[in-house]
Amino acid sequence: MSSKSVKLRRLLSLPILSVFVLVGFIYYITIFVFLEDWLGLHSSSGSLNTLIFSVLASFTLFSFLVCATTDPGRVPSGYVPDIEHSDASDQESKKNDVQLRRCDKCSAFKPPRAHHCRVCKRCVLRMDHHCLWINNCVGHQNYKAYVILVLYATVTNIYSSVIIVCSAILKDWAFNGSSSIKIFYICSAIMTMGFSFTLGTLLGWHIYLITRNKTTIEYYESVRAEWLARKSGQNYHHPFDVGFYKNITLILGPNMLKWLFPTAVSHLKDGIQFPTVRDSL
Ligand SMILES: [Zn+2]
Ligand SMILES: [Zn+2]
Repeated sequence: MSSKSVKLRRLLSLPILSVFVLVGFIYYITIFVFLEDWLGLHSSSGSLNTLIFSVLASFTLFSFLVCATTDPGRVPSGYVPDIEHSDASDQESKKNDVQLRRCDKCSAFKPPRAHHCRVCKRCVLRMDHHCLWINNCVGHQNYKAYVILVLYATVTNIYSSVIIVCSAILKDWAFNGSSSIKIFYICSAIMTMGFSFTLGTLLGWHIYLITRNKTTIEYYESVRAEWLARKSGQNYHHPFDVGFYKNITLILGPNMLKWLFPTAVSHLKDGIQFPTVRDSL
């Protein structure tokens, strides 16, 4: 099967179709119900808000498509770990390190930071998590698109909430405010504010992870490693945390002007080797 048809097939899932319906619904009510009611679509401020909101919604949808159709990163067939350049210091620990990085399900070696996804049924490079809403794993190649998607989706929902609230405040309820319209306003505001809060929290979490150069899986692994290190009176340092700004550029790219473009990922290396603290010593 060609990679194009695999990508299209991936889009045909219930969660993805629900996202499309939801984005379309929020877009429609924000522009054609609330903005129309508040400023009118033919006024200059109404047109300007329509333009800004449409651009934001398009960026969200575009990032969503990039995220859902990009392969997160496949382990090259025949991959064999480089024992000589393993992080461990002595020969025995190097061998153990390599043993640990073998995937029983794929019966193959897996590079550092790669994990096996039970849903995708394969190992994924720098796996973060499997996301139901994009019907894809979030890994090395689409992690940037994922974070940018969450950012655009958060801003779009906050913008929509503001338009709904402004429209509700300025509406002449005494003249034109049946109880069903009131319920519609309240439900819409709760929905977009709920999405803003949930997506905003997710965004904050991933900004935290980016600044520490950790994946969600590595975060949980490091909690345990920190606890074990503390027990033996030592300090644990995440090996891929190479400093606040460098960590950000490793994900978003060295050029700040390209940070908000989900497809600007030419800075990503092979996903097999990653700079570690030891490299910068
Ligand atoms: Zn595997
Ligand atoms: Zn997966």
